[in-house]
Amino acid sequence: MGLLSLGTPLHWNDSKKYADHVRSNGVIQLLNSYKISQGRENDKFYWGDEIEYMMISLDEASRSLKLSIDHDYVLTNLSEDGKNYQAALDNDVLFHPEYGRFMLEATPLNPYDGTSLGDYFKVENNMHRRRFLAIKEIQSENVYPLTLTAFPLMGVDDFCSPSTLPKGCASKSLFLPDEIINKHVRFPTLTANIRRRRGQKVAINIPLYKDKNTRSLDAADPSIPKRELFPYSDNEPHLSAVNPAAKPGHIYMDSMGFGMGSSCLQVTMQAKNLSEARYLFDSLVNIAPLMLAVTAAAPIFRGHLADQDVRWNVISGAVDDRTPFERNEAPLENHPLYGGQTDVEVQKSMLRIPKSRYDSIDQYLGGTEFYKSSYNDLNAPINKKVYDKLLESGLDEELSRHFGHLFIRDPLVLFSERIEQDNETEMDHFENIQSTNWQTLRFKVPSQDSVPNSNKPGWRIELRPMEISLTDFENAAYSVFSVLLSRAYIHYRFNNYLNISLVEDNMKRAHHRDAINREKFYVRTNIEDSGDAYVQELTLDEIFNGSEKRKFKGLIPIVKDFVAVEFGHDANPDDLEKLDMYLELISGRASGATPTTATYFRKLISEHPDYKYDSIVPESAAFDLCLFAKKLSEYNPTTVRQFFGDKIGNWLIAHGYSSIFAKLD
Ligand code: GLU
Ligand code: MG
Repeated sequence: MGLLSLGTPLHWNDSKKYADHVRSNGVIQLLNSYKISQGRENDKFYWGDEIEYMMISLDEASRSLKLSIDHDYVLTNLSEDGKNYQAALDNDVLFHPEYGRFMLEATPLNPYDGTSLGDYFKVENNMHRRRFLAIKEIQSENVYPLTLTAFPLMGVDDFCSPSTLPKGCASKSLFLPDEIINKHVRFPTLTANIRRRRGQKVAINIPLYKDKNTRSLDAADPSIPKRELFPYSDNEPHLSAVNPAAKPGHIYMDSMGFGMGSSCLQVTMQAKNLSEARYLFDSLVNIAPLMLAVTAAAPIFRGHLADQDVRWNVISGAVDDRTPFERNEAPLENHPLYGGQTDVEVQKSMLRIPKSRYDSIDQYLGGTEFYKSSYNDLNAPINKKVYDKLLESGLDEELSRHFGHLFIRDPLVLFSERIEQDNETEMDHFENIQSTNWQTLRFKVPSQDSVPNSNKPGWRIELRPMEISLTDFENAAYSVFSVLLSRAYIHYRFNNYLNISLVEDNMKRAHHRDAINREKFYVRTNIEDSGDAYVQELTLDEIFNGSEKRKFKGLIPIVKDFVAVEFGHDANPDDLEKLDMYLELISGRASGATPTTATYFRKLISEHPDYKYDSIVPESAAFDLCLFAKKLSEYNPTTVRQFFGDKIGNWLIAHGYSSIFAKLD
């Protein structure tokens, strides 16, 4: 999750003094890079995926389930300078740190070539090798790297192994000990500085699912400890024992780890030039909420069934560093209205900030023949000073707005050794702002040494909304699908614009419980038309599988056509068969024929003998759910059939998936 500088991190009270310094130098770094790399042409369509894991301790003998927080040596050993780094390189993979000390992130070492069909079928094998290396490195019985989007018992009683109590001063959480946070000093500092800038702990309230014995939605939540941990400092207002930040009828969470401790699947694609990157970004704006809905995998938070199926808004809340004033609430006493933003003119240009820094994107990048300024109808706040500077330096209106919007945020973690930088060669100040704007899409800028024709990364788009799935088969399917879809959009030059306020609405709908069967999403159906958007509300089935009635071809048929046109002649039949299975999975998920992970998890809990229909997930049920996840990730034949149904299940079994890890050994 971004830049890892080494050094002495600054407390918020010190770092905020440099906020303007970081922004003004960050803009110069951006401009220096832009001047050099705007002329890049004909870059290859390279791409890569990122998978986040959590290490879970699952003891079948004692039926105990814990989050394993003392296996971070796995990451150390497999990362640069680690004793098994070479094994990672030999397997063409790289391991990276993530927010949680219990987390791993892994990517391919080398990018895939999106113009070669064969490369799409290296992805799954590469993912299997990543998981296998992690399994081998853990070397303790009963601890597994699982690709669960959210740990169901996060913040419930004594949920860590080794046992640790929540009394940490970085998060001040009532539920999560600071020991769950990655030990690299950036992460606890990030946690504390978000809280300090905000002036209070983060407060995440997710609607509780109402079952027949669920407590009254007006009643206080008895699972919130009635205690105060700290004498309040950092100008934080006193929170009373009956926590006013907790909304009745909701699952209350008070710490960054509830969000940034979740796992996702991301893909990054390189465009051939700046103009194609802008086109791809804009084309994916409304694909993002759809991919979130179809990968839904998180119906449980802090041991409760939620009345939603995904992680997204939990993370939004978990890193929401806006002050109450910025959120349009009553300001706190003796607390700056705008954090580290002291320029009065800039303050006036921003007014209030409607969304967290982790949220859906607010504006199109434009610069395409289809773009109209009326599509950008959210009026997202911008930092006027940054916007003016970019505009007068030659960036167009939309690019200046895009970065002007990112630069409304303060840098959250600064290292005293890295305050002065060489703006000709370094990008850390820019990246500091860029990489803590966690939106559904990230528009990645080349570094200053990315001169035309160099092999340094060029203009890239990262697609970030997808939830992680339990198996690498699924993660490969979603990665391959989203990249082929992107390639199809570029190939056919579809016009995917609709008012961005409708995309915002789609994002909310993507959160809803069983959105597949109960929701419709706005889509532009006249994608072959350069005129005004014809927008209809379609089910995910209609969107992914197509609908004659709605005159919408469907995303899966689009991908199939593209593959036939682009690769038809030299496609390997085994590859095509696998692609069919990937598309079968996504098609089934979108139509509801194959339940989403979230729906399946709900079923596992609600049918569990220990469940009392009270929306509380018993530890025994959480254990069985994680055991199921573990068996599924190993493609246990019975589990695979239960989860995917006969068609995909039998195909996986017939193709030897159940012994895939044994074969890697
Ligand atoms: N784990 C975060 C998520 O689930 C993403 C962190 C990152 O940017 O890598 O969205
Ligand atoms: Mg990550």
